[in-house]
Amino acid sequence: EAKRAKSRFGKQYTPSMSDKIKRRLAYVDDMKQGLENGDFKLFYQPQYNHSGNIIGAEALLRWHHPVHGVESPAVYIPIAEESDLILNIGQWVLEQACRDIYTLEQLSLPATFKKVAINVSAKQLIQHDFQDKVMQAIKLNNIAAEHLAVELTENLLVENIEDSIKLIASLKANAIDCSIDDFGTGYSSLTYLKRIPASVLKIDRSFVANIEQSNESAAIASMIISLGKTLHMSVLAEGVETSAEFNCLKMLGCYQYQGYYFQKPIPFDEFVQLLSNLNSG
Ligand code: C2E
Ligand code: MG
Ligand code: MG
Ligand code: MG
Repeated sequence: EAKRAKSRFGKQYTPSMSDKIKRRLAYVDDMKQGLENGDFKLFYQPQYNHSGNIIGAEALLRWHHPVHGVESPAVYIPIAEESDLILNIGQWVLEQACRDIYTLEQLSLPATFKKVAINVSAKQLIQHDFQDKVMQAIKLNNIAAEHLAVELTENLLVENIEDSIKLIASLKANAIDCSIDDFGTGYSSLTYLKRIPASVLKIDRSFVANIEQSNESAAIASMIISLGKTLHMSVLAEGVETSAEFNCLKMLGCYQYQGYYFQKPIPFDEFVQLLSNLNSG
């Protein structure tokens, strides 16, 4: 039996490895079950301009695991990505975001509020019918396409460059904007970047943290800001936690922000409340 295990996994059989695989499979099952049980939720984190107006929001997935409690998407998304389960999860995110956008459209939103962005993973992106799925969800929920946007990480784009360019261009032709997420951590060359018809560069949190104390981070952020200007893309800083970071970014010419300094990701009903309070107040 040990021999069979060795040939299948290409490594020496150890009970701990088998345990690890079993645990992984059980975890994927938990996710599948969670999706069916409605244990996944979308939280929303608002995005702001330099005057403090809300310009949009990012939809962030939350999963309440029956045993472990609230799990971080940074943990379970990569595991879901190892199986096709990420496609089911991604489809649910798309549909739920469209339902929520429909609700938002029934409110009188602040004039500055433009769109809700969802995160899209590599496996979703390379499906031949991803664009059709997006358009179907928009149509089914009777929402305006320009209220939905997608975020693709820089690395995902680089790894699927030709497909990404085509997809982003055709989404854009249908009024759906694309942001390049975690920008600065990947390996995109300027040649590629010039060809990607994205609308927003999101400065990765790692360059925002203590930016007022780091010449290196400030230099990288400045470079991204001028790159954005040159390529006619907006630049949004993610993970802004302090007023010092906010002021430094503003001074460098970055005028869009997201982060705990402004607002943490909140459940949809709280997000609706937040928008409603703005209107009444
Ligand atoms: P991301 O797309 O870069 O999302 C930003 C992450 O930074 C979120 O973590 C958010 O809660 C967190 N964040 C926002 N402001 C601050 C801040 O001021 N300080 C700090 N320390 N963190 C802040 P979260 O929600 O844990 O998500 C982690 C990652 O998981 C996301 O990174 C995204 O790559 C992925 N993810 C989340 N939801 C989805 C989804 O629906 N689909 C896919 N494919 N990936 C998702
Ligand atoms: Mg994102
Ligand atoms: Mg990000
Ligand atoms: Mg990030």
